[in-house]
Amino acid sequence: MISITAYGGVDHIGGNKILLEDGDTRIFLDFGEPFNMKDEFFVDWLTPRESRTGLKDYFFFDLMPQIKGLYGEKWLKDTDLKYSKPEFDAILISHMHFDHAMHLKFVDDKVPVYLGAAADAIRQSWEATGGTGISFGDHDFKTFRTGSKIKIGSVEVEPIHVDHSVPGAYGFLVHTSAGCVVYTGDLRLHGPRSDMTREFVNRAAAEKPVALICEGTRVSPKDPRVDLSEKEVEEKARKLVTSSKKLAIVSFYPKDVDRMRTYRDVAKATGRKFVVSTKVAHLLESLKGDRRISVPDPMTDPNMLVYVRQGMSRPLPHDKHYKDMLGRNDHVVCCDDVAKRQEQLIFQTDIMQLTELIDILPSPGSLFIRSKSEPFEEDDVQEEILQNWIKRFNLDFHQAHASGHANMEEIFDIVRRIGPKVVVPVHTEHADMFVKCGRVVRCPVARKSIPIP
Ligand SMILES: [Zn+2]
Repeated sequence: MISITAYGGVDHIGGNKILLEDGDTRIFLDFGEPFNMKDEFFVDWLTPRESRTGLKDYFFFDLMPQIKGLYGEKWLKDTDLKYSKPEFDAILISHMHFDHAMHLKFVDDKVPVYLGAAADAIRQSWEATGGTGISFGDHDFKTFRTGSKIKIGSVEVEPIHVDHSVPGAYGFLVHTSAGCVVYTGDLRLHGPRSDMTREFVNRAAAEKPVALICEGTRVSPKDPRVDLSEKEVEEKARKLVTSSKKLAIVSFYPKDVDRMRTYRDVAKATGRKFVVSTKVAHLLESLKGDRRISVPDPMTDPNMLVYVRQGMSRPLPHDKHYKDMLGRNDHVVCCDDVAKRQEQLIFQTDIMQLTELIDILPSPGSLFIRSKSEPFEEDDVQEEILQNWIKRFNLDFHQAHASGHANMEEIFDIVRRIGPKVVVPVHTEHADMFVKCGRVVRCPVARKSIPIP
C-alpha cells in the first residue's frame, strides 16, 4: 500500500507540499510556501525571526508541520523538534514558482532536489538577483528533462513537460508498487505550448493511474480569471500601444518568459523598444543556453533595452560577470533616457520598482498595462497602492493577461481523459467540486494521509 499526505496546497491555491510514501521510500512533490501563510500573525514590518531563531516562530503558530528527519539542523536549534538525520529520499519540484519551491531552504541539505534544467537556471538567477534572504538551500540539485527516468528507492519518476506561465514546468508520473501516481503540477491548455500539456495528459492516460493529484486553481463557482490566450494578450497590447503617443508601462510576473517574448514582439510591431529590469535581463540571460526555450536576449535584441536603476552601483551584487557586461553594453539605459524617449519605449516595472516613476515622470495619460492576474481579494493592499500610483501619475490603466492555469472545464476534461481510480485535488479552494468530473474524489485534509488504493 502507498499513501499520499498533503502538508500544503489543501483548501488553498499554492503552497504544495505533497508526501508520497511507498514502503520505506518517501518523496515530496513540491515544497512551496502558501501565499497566505503569514497573513494572520504577521505583516510587512512584523515577520518571523527565521534568520535568528529558524523555524521557532513558524512552529509556535503551527504555520509549518513539525516533521522528524526533514529540516536542516540550523533551522531547528531553537525549537522543540530535535534534529535527526534525513528520513526522506528526495524532493521533486514541478516548477520554480514561490508557492511550489520556496520552503526548500528549510529542508535538510542532505535531501537531494530534482527539478527541470530550465527550472534550475531560474533558481540560480532568482538567488543571484532576489536580494538577501532568497535561498533554496545547498542541496544536491539534480536536473531532468522530459524522457528522464529517475529511480528513487522503490519508485521511478518520469517527468513530462507541461505548459505553464514559467519555463521548465513538469508533471510527474510516479511508478510505485501500487501502480502509477500522476501529479499535474500547474498547467494550462490555452498557452503557446499547449502541445506539451496534451503530451503529458496522453502519457498519463496510457498508464491507467491509480491516483491523480490534480491542480484546481480555477475550479471555482465563480472564476475571476479571463480566458485570454497569449496571442490575444499580444493583440490587445499592440492595439493599446499603437494608439498611444506616450510612454507604455507594463507589469507582469518576473518569471513569465512568454510575456517577455510577447512584449518584445509588441515593441517590434510598434517601432518601440522594450525596456526590462536587470532582474528580467538576468533571467533571460540565464535561460539563453537552453536551446529548447526561445528567449529574447535584451543585450543584443534590437528591440530591447535594459534599465539600470539610479544609484545602483551594484545592480547585481552576486554576479560579477553580468555586472561587467551591463557596464559595457550600449543596450543599458537609465531614468533620464526613459524620461526623454517616452513615446519610443515600453517600460517594464513591478510594484517594487514603482518609485522609478518619480524619476521618469511619465507624461499624464501614459499607458499602464497590468499583464498579470487581477487581484482576487477585494481588499488587496497592493492593488490599492497600485491604483493610488496610477491616479497620482494620471495613467491610462488596462488589463491584459493569459492565466497560467487551465480553466475548470479543461481541468475536468483532463481528469476524465487520464481516468485515474481516484483523484486528489490540490492547489484549489474547491476540491469538492471535482465530483463533477465523475471520478472517485478524495479531498485531502491537511497532514492526514490518504491510503491508495
Ligand atoms: Zn505555478
